[in-house]
Amino acid sequence: MRQIAIYGKGGIGKSTTTQNTLAALAEKGNKIMLVGCDPKADSTRLLLGGATQETVLNSVRDLGQENVTDEDVFRIGFGGVRCVESGGPEPGVGCAGRGIITSITTLEQLGAYERELDYVFYDVLGDVVCGGFAMPIREAYAKEIYIVCSGELMALYAANNISKGVLKFANSGGVRVGGLICNSRNVDNERDMVEAFAKKIGTQLIHFIPRDNVVQRAEIKRKTVIEYEKDAKQADIYRELAKKIEENEMFVIPKPMEMQELEDLMMQYGFMEEYERTTEAAAAAAAASK
Ligand code: ADP
Ligand code: MG
Repeated sequence: MRQIAIYGKGGIGKSTTTQNTLAALAEKGNKIMLVGCDPKADSTRLLLGGATQETVLNSVRDLGQENVTDEDVFRIGFGGVRCVESGGPEPGVGCAGRGIITSITTLEQLGAYERELDYVFYDVLGDVVCGGFAMPIREAYAKEIYIVCSGELMALYAANNISKGVLKFANSGGVRVGGLICNSRNVDNERDMVEAFAKKIGTQLIHFIPRDNVVQRAEIKRKTVIEYEKDAKQADIYRELAKKIEENEMFVIPKPMEMQELEDLMMQYGFMEEYERTTEAAAAAAAASK
């Protein structure tokens, strides 16, 4: 059984990419459990279609941890994927990562990890890997992580911070980076840029996912692209990523960059110039509107 965590900044496309990739892995007959580790609890909606899923944190609060059963925690989604949503406290109340800790201890109690499974995936929110968000790698559940990013500064900044977190737990927990997944934002030179960044931190760009509106159309229907339009080009893109993950052999301890180095890299690819131009333009526009 391989346990894999998907990290990346909020809104970058972790949940979309994860569910589509899992749909592709499930198509090939793999048995999979997906643990949503985002307080938003929207990591499983494309696989579950219309079904709403109660979070583990809510079930535990309402019933008490020892009374929670399989029926409270699992929903079976597309391709037989066993879906779990950790949930989280109300915004501003307590540690947002608390749901993940409760979720994993509840899964242990239910014997979820002893079931016949080929993969367990954790879809984890986080620009920085700390507190509950570090649980899947700190406690050595996931030994393999993929970081979803794009060629935008903040996405790479987050990816760099995440690799700092991985580095911290690499020796104790044995976690390794399996690669970066570039979910395109149509930034200039994006593929080369992310490839260069990946190399700098010692890993690989494992896959480049183009931006495609079929993703939105499928999302409105609460489906993965694989289920919504199985012959779409974008569906094959996710199938390719699934295959690359299945066959991946490159697992590294990352070497995060210094901020200056990261900015230099972006400068080299012309991104910093654009970034300054747009921030200058925004500042000028703000000044003009005063
Ligand atoms: P995260 O889980 O990282 O917060 P999501 O997976 O929820 O991000 O994605 C955020 C939004 O971006 C979603 O509305 C999704 O439809 C859109 N999106 C993600 N990947 C793509 C893509 N390759 N092409 C077009 N839209 C995408
Ligand atoms: Mg998400």
